[in-house]
Amino acid sequence: MNEYVIPPPPQASVPVRGGGLFPVRRIFCVGRNYADHAREMGGDPEREAPFFFAKPADAVLTGGADMAYPAATEELHHEMELVAAIGAGGSDIAAADALAHVWGYAAGLDMTRRDLQAAAKAAGRPWDMAKGFDLSAPIGALVPVAQCGHPRAGRIELRVNGAVRQAGDLGGMIWDVAETVAALSALVRLMPGDLVFTGTPAGVGAVGRGDSLVGTIEGVGEVRTTIR
Ligand code: MN
Repeated sequence: MNEYVIPPPPQASVPVRGGGLFPVRRIFCVGRNYADHAREMGGDPEREAPFFFAKPADAVLTGGADMAYPAATEELHHEMELVAAIGAGGSDIAAADALAHVWGYAAGLDMTRRDLQAAAKAAGRPWDMAKGFDLSAPIGALVPVAQCGHPRAGRIELRVNGAVRQAGDLGGMIWDVAETVAALSALVRLMPGDLVFTGTPAGVGAVGRGDSLVGTIEGVGEVRTTIR
């Protein structure tokens, strides 16, 4: 008898457009993957290999639900991103094979406590509490590859209270989805249910209580939330 000694946690999931739920195992995020955003964060887009950080699976916030303004920050930033959902796992995946591991795509927000991130960077400390806090990953409906294909170009945009804050093109990624998945799979064995946030274009900035965020990705869909 090996029964759980407390009730097991509920399975985090993302609704799929057309019905069903995609179970979320882990959330990986790539940093500085658009040249214009790398520059605005003080980086050099020509020389940096992809690097990754993570959020817990239950950071997902779905269905356009409100996001509670998180504790311990006075600088909550939006990062609008294309999210790739892994349907078939693997390690040391070649870039040429990587897209076959992607089940679908969604629009997502890598919400960031920028003040905590800046302090962590300055102290050489981990980013976890800047990136992996509760509800830090609002995400729209997941679209199967069968419906949307593999988006390689197209407008990615975030509006706050109707005004465009971030705008870019998926073609502006330094490391495309295939290269990102390949690089990540050299570090961890990817598993079905993993989500990969693929980085944000320039224009990141702060939001506050009452702000309405609507992000759209051409050919994929949208993500929305309101800060409460
Ligand atoms: Mn990000």
